Amino acid sequence: MAEKLINYRNMKQVFQLTLLLLVCGMLSAQPLTLIKKGKSDYHIVLPEKATVIEIQAAKVLQDYLFRITGVSLPLVADNATASPEEILVGRVNRPEQGQVDYNQLKEDGLLIKTNNRKLILTGGDKKGVIYSVYTFLDKYLGCRKYTSDFTYVPKQRTIRLPFIDDMQLPVFTFRETYYHDVYDPEYMDWHKLHSFEGRGSDKTKWGYWVHTFHALLDPKVYGASHPEYFSYYDGKRHAGLISSWDGGGTQPEAQLCLTNPDVLEIVCDNLKKAIDKNPGALYWSVSQNDNVNYCRCENCAALDSQYAAYKPEEKNLATHGTSGYTALGMGSLLTFVNKVAERFPDKIISTLAYQYSRTPPKGIVPRKNVNIMLCSIESSRNDPMTVGDKAFCEDLVGWGKLTNNILVWDYVIRFSHLLAPFPNLRVLQPNIQFLRDNNVTALFEQGNIQSGGDFAPLRSYLIARLLWNPDIDIEKEKNEFIDAYYGPAAAEIKEYIRLLHDNNRSGQGVRMSIFGSPVQEKESFLSVDLIERYNRIFDRGEKKVKNKPGYHVRVKSARLPVYYAMLEIAKEAKAGNRGALIKGTDGSLVPDPEIVSVLYEFVYHCVRTKVSRTSEWHTTPKEYLEKYRAFLAEGTK
Ligand SMILES: [Zn+2]
Repeated sequence: MAEKLINYRNMKQVFQLTLLLLVCGMLSAQPLTLIKKGKSDYHIVLPEKATVIEIQAAKVLQDYLFRITGVSLPLVADNATASPEEILVGRVNRPEQGQVDYNQLKEDGLLIKTNNRKLILTGGDKKGVIYSVYTFLDKYLGCRKYTSDFTYVPKQRTIRLPFIDDMQLPVFTFRETYYHDVYDPEYMDWHKLHSFEGRGSDKTKWGYWVHTFHALLDPKVYGASHPEYFSYYDGKRHAGLISSWDGGGTQPEAQLCLTNPDVLEIVCDNLKKAIDKNPGALYWSVSQNDNVNYCRCENCAALDSQYAAYKPEEKNLATHGTSGYTALGMGSLLTFVNKVAERFPDKIISTLAYQYSRTPPKGIVPRKNVNIMLCSIESSRNDPMTVGDKAFCEDLVGWGKLTNNILVWDYVIRFSHLLAPFPNLRVLQPNIQFLRDNNVTALFEQGNIQSGGDFAPLRSYLIARLLWNPDIDIEKEKNEFIDAYYGPAAAEIKEYIRLLHDNNRSGQGVRMSIFGSPVQEKESFLSVDLIERYNRIFDRGEKKVKNKPGYHVRVKSARLPVYYAMLEIAKEAKAGNRGALIKGTDGSLVPDPEIVSVLYEFVYHCVRTKVSRTSEWHTTPKEYLEKYRAFLAEGTK
């Protein structure tokens, strides 16, 4: 009986405890009203000794809440007496902090959490707190940062929040979308972006980024006196300089001889000097120059062959302006880079797996402090890489088995023709998901660093969202952007994008590469019939927004690639079908007035909207006009 009584008492206690937990759980799971009909008792609470980033986060929150509701919540330090209605920003001295696992949040992880009537906005010590505030504004309050100068802020008098327990950790530790407009400090914080070269407002962790052999052992200094430090092939050493492939200066003609012991000493000495000047930087690139002329001396070739995981004929690649190369040069390179990394255990030594060194080796692994920067420069862009470039995927999977310190350098535009239509929007998400699934921890998406270009605002926005969350609903995000950015002409923009992409199937057109020309697509998504349809769509779109100058200018910018394709195809065809020249009344060739009109419109709108270049490396819009006029004049002679 006594035993039963004790059990009963225990049961009662258990029951009471359960009830208490349940009530607490229900309380913390209650929806919360931050602002009601333009009034609020809430305070934004900051640590008494707040960090710069915590102060920034609190001020951003205060500002946006005001812009949404007209209510300015007071900022108070955490040494003030706690009240029930508080928004806790950062590491504030409140019991609710006990629920936050900062070890898990690391540098950039964020936490948004409601607890009773409190709202917790915090995160990792680097950027987590500011990411938490911007994510809260975006995900829960509907604010958007579409471009550096287009921020959407909904107006409402009441803010009621559901129960929230939202922790987000970065999928990639480094996230960069290399687009001209994204380096606005607020855009970068909003979308959680980095810049390897320190654009925006944050210091970069990268001391050296890429192609550093010539900086670490300069052909100008050693070329004449020590040719044996440089690549051997075609029966001799190559220690010279050639004019750079973008025409802007000189570049080394080859690489270093990585099995020469002096080369290791000189490279390490120069690297140490560079590190001493910038000791805070963590990543230091020791990587090949931008050419495929690696050393085939006896010793280097022996290492390449010793560590080759494939037969040479299985890994022959080719890309822009370079004849084919065998991608089995990593054996000598990784042996060398591992030795450098051993001397600098506190730094991460990054090296390229690019062109001739792209394929993962066997029998050797990168040291723990080696970063592999793997480049997909050869891939076609019509299809996701899992379909369009199986050889690259094989290399990536291989690298993923050797290391989890991989940065992928991927490409999302056409460098040679920045204003040509480049319908790759459907491959962005599958590619980023594939990289995430194969041990890639950092991602650099090389877009258009010039201002302007084919769908630059949309593409950079979508990539920014995908870099943080590769599983977003991409269609929803895309449509939302287009609705906001193009207003009444959104339906036409969507129709154009759909038609363009539907006709860009690898089976129908040629391989769409980052170095191609729109002329290659003149029978697929740039056919006569389709160009006509695109123009009719844009005519309709422009008409819809003709009295709305803000939208009108954006629709005209979206149309520029159609004009550019017409101009390039007309130039190639000369006087033929689709050509820029037609027969005049006297039978001689004259410029087609329609092409001339497109040319003037194209160039004027580029100038008006500050498009800087039509190619990554050269040709301003005015230079384009000059060249085109010269071509027309030549053709009519
Ligand atoms: Zn060599």
